[in-house]
Amino acid sequence: HLQQMQQGASNILVAVRARPLTKKEQEVDDHQIVQVLDNNVIVLLDPSDWQNIPEEAFRQNRTREKQYAFDYAFNQNASQDSIFEKTTKFLIDGVLNGFNATVFAYGPTGAGKTYTMIGEVDGPGLMLKTFLEIFSKIEEMSGERDYTVKLSYLEIYNEIVRDLINPSMETLEIREDPIKGVVIAGLTEIMATSPEHVITSIRNGNRRRTQEPTQANETSSRSHAVLQIIAEHRDKASGVEAEVLVGKLNLIDLAGSERAANTKNRGLRLIEGANINRSLLALGNCINALCEMNEKNTKVYVPYRDSKLTRLLKDSLGGNCRTVMIACISPFAGSFEDTYNTLLYANRAKHI
Ligand code: ADP
Ligand code: MG
Repeated sequence: HLQQMQQGASNILVAVRARPLTKKEQEVDDHQIVQVLDNNVIVLLDPSDWQNIPEEAFRQNRTREKQYAFDYAFNQNASQDSIFEKTTKFLIDGVLNGFNATVFAYGPTGAGKTYTMIGEVDGPGLMLKTFLEIFSKIEEMSGERDYTVKLSYLEIYNEIVRDLINPSMETLEIREDPIKGVVIAGLTEIMATSPEHVITSIRNGNRRRTQEPTQANETSSRSHAVLQIIAEHRDKASGVEAEVLVGKLNLIDLAGSERAANTKNRGLRLIEGANINRSLLALGNCINALCEMNEKNTKVYVPYRDSKLTRLLKDSLGGNCRTVMIACISPFAGSFEDTYNTLLYANRAKHI
């Protein structure tokens, strides 16, 4: 299936990335409940099954039901580079040829979504690596083609779309244009001129994401952040008459999936939770419908209209578009429920 996906016969790739235990977690409990086998299988231990010997429990679990297979499973040592090489790099040729694609980081707060998407100064994530690759490919093709690369950055919070490049109180409307596809009226698009410029724009945009009211420092896990990379080109040989082709790549840091399930929420938190749930459910349902369409080769109803997130992605999921989901998980025993739910979600999304 992996080869099919990379060769274009299948459109959805599902990967799981387990991060290392944090220092704090190690102080509480340094057992890991996640093991990666053969680069594509995740074994999950239920800490309530342990009799002090997790190693023994892992051995038993290997033959039991708590095993999940994906296109890729990355362990805690996987480098930012290898994540990029295996999950995103292969999308770039398509985007530079006028096709759309989407990469999601899914998972609970603290599982590594932002680390995977944005990363750190000495370990940049998918967003910057993608631009570097695009810039280098464009350079290679500069003899034959003229490219313009633009970016926009937005968040969806409580089913409201907000610009993260040029923030205002204004909420943006999603429209469908018969030629341009999905259009977000009024969304700022800036020219991506250099890697430095791009990373500054993303970092600044990130600081503008909706904040936790109670913990001022934690950038929000309550909103979906969508970076859109728009690559337009025309062939030089065809002169001024040349058709402009546009490819779009969406790189998405989804809201924390645990928010959707928390039933103790009240008031605004309850509304937020319901909206996050709605988007993540709609996303899962759209991906499932698309998988079914792939397999049976028939038309299946895809519920794009069920949330803002899926409406926004209508022209970037399904059809000729490729979709990559990276489910992020923590190996911490205290995160068992979240990890289990994340694996179930990712498992539902994959091609059967
Ligand atoms: P999320 O965005 O899903 O809430 P973060 O990306 O902020 O989670 O990750 C939580 C913490 O774990 C951060 O301190 C981050 O630096 C660290 N972390 C996440 N993934 C990794 C990884 N693969 N390797 C090392 N540290 C990681
Ligand atoms: Mg985050």
